[in-house]
Amino acid sequence: MLYNFYLNKNMIYLLIILLLSFVNFNLCFKCGFNDLKFPENDTFISFHDNNDTQNRLLNTDDSSDNDEFESIRIYLDTEYIENQTTVNKTLKSKALDVLKSAINLLQKIVLIKRETSKLILNSTQIQNSCDNITISNDLASGKGKGVDADLVLLAKFTDNELGSNVQAAASYCGLDPISHRPIVGFVLINSSLDLSKMENSEEYLKLLFFHEITHVLVFHPSLWEHHYIPVLNGEKFTKVKEINGINRTLITSPNVLKAAKKHFGCSDIEGIELENQGGTGTTGSHWESRIMLGDYMIGFDYSEIFLSEITLGLFNDSGWYKVNDYTGGLFRHGKNQKCEFLEDKCIKKELTPFSNEFCNDKAFFRCGSSRLVRSFCYLVSYTSNIPSDYQYFSDPLKGGYSYSDYCPISMELLLNSSMYLSGNCKYGGSFGYENIGEVVGDKSICVLSSLVGSNETSIPMEMLKNRIRPMCYPITCNMNTKTVTITVLKTNISCPTEGGEQKVDGFDGVVFCPDFNSVCTGTTFCTSLSDCIEKKSVALEETFQYNYKPENQQDYKYYSTNYAPNEITGIGANTEVNDDEEEEENTNDKGKYIILNPILFIIYILSQFL
Ligand SMILES: [Zn+2]
Repeated sequence: MLYNFYLNKNMIYLLIILLLSFVNFNLCFKCGFNDLKFPENDTFISFHDNNDTQNRLLNTDDSSDNDEFESIRIYLDTEYIENQTTVNKTLKSKALDVLKSAINLLQKIVLIKRETSKLILNSTQIQNSCDNITISNDLASGKGKGVDADLVLLAKFTDNELGSNVQAAASYCGLDPISHRPIVGFVLINSSLDLSKMENSEEYLKLLFFHEITHVLVFHPSLWEHHYIPVLNGEKFTKVKEINGINRTLITSPNVLKAAKKHFGCSDIEGIELENQGGTGTTGSHWESRIMLGDYMIGFDYSEIFLSEITLGLFNDSGWYKVNDYTGGLFRHGKNQKCEFLEDKCIKKELTPFSNEFCNDKAFFRCGSSRLVRSFCYLVSYTSNIPSDYQYFSDPLKGGYSYSDYCPISMELLLNSSMYLSGNCKYGGSFGYENIGEVVGDKSICVLSSLVGSNETSIPMEMLKNRIRPMCYPITCNMNTKTVTITVLKTNISCPTEGGEQKVDGFDGVVFCPDFNSVCTGTTFCTSLSDCIEKKSVALEETFQYNYKPENQQDYKYYSTNYAPNEITGIGANTEVNDDEEEEENTNDKGKYIILNPILFIIYILSQFL
């Protein structure tokens, strides 16, 4: 009788927790690249105001002409948007600001042999090929003088051309007839976008537009499928290979291969896979997120958004551009994990051999692969069988995120629904752990820790002891000793170069030091895509392998399995992979997150004692 009473009370608490904690919240940009209707034939645009150039203006790999490459000039023609009177003025102005920030960021890494003549366009031709967008008089032949630019970017708000959860889309719409380089492109912005609603929205959408403009510049299947990329010389840019029983399209261009060999530590690499999920449109227009998770050119929004050396290789391989390598080396998914990472299954015998990248237990909290985002293990139960090629567990319903070939991956812990990037250690929000040393800011990274000050005796703090959680702590990279110092409150913790578990005087619990190479940068320390570009940070030249093993942490108990996204229902998992409907259904499974709230956590902990 008594027992039943306690049980019922516990159940009420748990019900409250579950109701409040599992919020069906869709923090989602879905790149709308695939919603665009491409014309059957590309438009080649004679844009010069004279015919003084027959130069293909290419990257010839001749080091003597390096000086000719300068920052790409992207001209954003805003007139069409300014004349869209039905769109809210504040939204227009904010969207244009964000678009300009993204352009500014791209101009810092993409270099080009600049056009010597002004760019001037035929209005009718542009309107026909660029989604009916009209150009300003300055750009129009017969009316204006043209502009000094290498690319004209047009923009348009739209109510109905994009799916409801798509925030923006972009494509090129005019090519140089000589070099075949895109010289005109357009960005569509969803009119229902509300930039005022979400904290960090400007940073988040800057990265979204950065992604979209990259589709305009180079990441576009039409460019490689139609052999427009001049360095191809008739060679194919892609090949098809069977991996894990599925035919996959790989990008095989030389600089992509070179960067990938170095990143994965796989000298036999044949290419980098393109996304094979999400329906006919998505397939082939983004990197495969199973192996490129965290790069900004994967096909869905993800909390770790970085510029990889592999994507920079693609810019180089076009022949049209050279790039500054200001990546900071932050893309760390699959780093040094050898060829097995690219071709083996992510889960074997229900465990993962790649514990930095994947997980096999939803009860465990995590940091993202690049150690910058507080995360959990996304491993769910689908309502219908996962396609057989992607079944890694004895239970055919059990699997991870669909776009990542159903591999269980780290997914951001959401603080609340009014903030983008909330789990991020640079931009994110407070989980209420300031008194035990959490700091969200420029110098912080995600570190797994159970540290609580020994003199902390309150019940909530007692409850946190020996319970591992992802925490944001400020770190210092000591380049001479190749070590990391973690600061927890006023205590500096010196980590060994290879990382590992550390006890700390004055604290109960342990901190799991990261490997120096897994968090530090080669030059100025940086912790986000834009931060690294602004600071011109380059990757660390690594001399040894990671040996940091997150699975060693499993001796410890996490808060509770009840915080994991337990048996989510209503998720569709169609058995046919290349099915447009699957794209719609599977984007919904991303919409289920945990909102971790310390007050709820305390209620839950207390409930265990009542
Ligand atoms: Zn995209």
